[in-house]
Amino acid sequence: MGSEADHHQLHAFLFPVMAQGHMIPMVDIARLLAARGLKATIITTPLNATTISKTTDRDRSSGLNIDIQVIPFPAVEVGLPEGSESVDKINSPEMIPKFFNAINMLQQPFEQLLEQHQPDFIIAGMFFPWATEAASKFGIPRFVFHGTSFFSLCVTESLTCYKPYEGITSDKESFVVPGLPDKIEMPMSQLPDYFKVTNVFTELMEQVRDSELKSYGVIVNSFYELEPAYAEHYRKVMGRRAWQIGPVSLRNRDTMDKAQRGKKGSIDEHYILNWLDSKKPNSVLYVCFGSVSRFSNDQLLEIGMGLEDSGVSFVWVVRTIKNDKEERFLPEGFEERMEVKGLIIREWAPQVLILDHPAVGGFMTHCGWNSMLEGVSAGVPLITWPLFAEQFFNEKFVTQVLQIGIRVGVEEWNLWMDTKNVSVKKEKIGKVVTQLMGNGEEAEKIRRRAKQHSEMAKRAVEEGGSSYADLTALIEELKITGGKTT
Ligand code: UDP
Repeated sequence: MGSEADHHQLHAFLFPVMAQGHMIPMVDIARLLAARGLKATIITTPLNATTISKTTDRDRSSGLNIDIQVIPFPAVEVGLPEGSESVDKINSPEMIPKFFNAINMLQQPFEQLLEQHQPDFIIAGMFFPWATEAASKFGIPRFVFHGTSFFSLCVTESLTCYKPYEGITSDKESFVVPGLPDKIEMPMSQLPDYFKVTNVFTELMEQVRDSELKSYGVIVNSFYELEPAYAEHYRKVMGRRAWQIGPVSLRNRDTMDKAQRGKKGSIDEHYILNWLDSKKPNSVLYVCFGSVSRFSNDQLLEIGMGLEDSGVSFVWVVRTIKNDKEERFLPEGFEERMEVKGLIIREWAPQVLILDHPAVGGFMTHCGWNSMLEGVSAGVPLITWPLFAEQFFNEKFVTQVLQIGIRVGVEEWNLWMDTKNVSVKKEKIGKVVTQLMGNGEEAEKIRRRAKQHSEMAKRAVEEGGSSYADLTALIEELKITGGKTT
């Protein structure tokens, strides 16, 4: 006879940071939990709920117990334009502290929901450090979701503890990140700014670390075989409790799931699939720099010319800076000349659907962790163009540790809304694209390794795989404790 704990349906609250790079994987996690028989409630704000609800409605109609609870976002109260409910709406540095003020004001409505619904556990985004305290008021375990790799979590911790960059004044000078399984060397110019100067993120990252140490554990969107040394380091050397349950994007199996992930696409998915169907296997480069970054028209022009010079077919997701002159971002006559070779998608593309297509043989990426892992899952080699956040760490990981990518050669970390006018010229872009998509020995090796990683990723999430097993272990543990910490 089963115990009462066996019959109790565990109820998870998932509270993602309002940024596509956090919401998209957290929705996948909610769906994964629901598919394992749990009740999953996603907490978010009105506009984000509209985006997510298409997916959750579909899941609910197929019998999953998944739901959304909406809390208002106080944008206007903190001096942000109405509707600034996610990070991609932040387009000036002055908006950042206001956005985080608004985020902090969510604690009280969040606690009200906890009181009302009494979930068994919470997975909350890293930028809600107060969620640990909120959870403990109700005796509920809180898990942190950073949305990045073990590797980057280990690098960040090492930099925080040992400060190897202290005393270095030149941006060109490098330091070694101490205590890691591999020798990782970084130039000062690639270090996130909050390490170098005191700003809103300096204090916030301290709070994030503190709350992580007080939390029940950490949920990582990665899989053991991808970074075993760092998964071990994180647990054994850094002493954190972690469950790796990814790649969570592999939860999306059919065209509809892949096409409706995140925002609404600006081009019909069938049109994209037909276009890709007309191309040879591994012949197309997919170019996309995530959900928040925007390039200057001059940089876009260089990318367009570099792609044209490479002679490689491409799908390019273009997001301009709103106040730049729209008409200038493409070379003269580009769209006519590239009618067959290139597909330009403005604003939002169904990324996983594209990456999974057999015609796609390379991915030029800004190294956001979701994009990296989606590329790994699809077995597609990478051209790395990091911009901000922990993206330079991710670049080190895929180029140096995994060796499945080539650097385009960006050297300087910048806030996403503060990007340099031009950081890479067309000659370099064209050269790297030709190299990655060509038949050279190194490119073949990279391709082979990328395919092997994709197979490992798929095995990890199948029944009996490492991520599947880690999720089972997590659920079993929570069933035994009843999900309660007191
Ligand atoms: N994404 C997408 N279409 C786009 C741009 C981004 O589907 O046109 C998705 C992408 O698949 C990934 C997420 O948005 O899941 C971006 O997360 P990532 O960590 O790569 O970068 P961020 O946007 O946080 O910088």
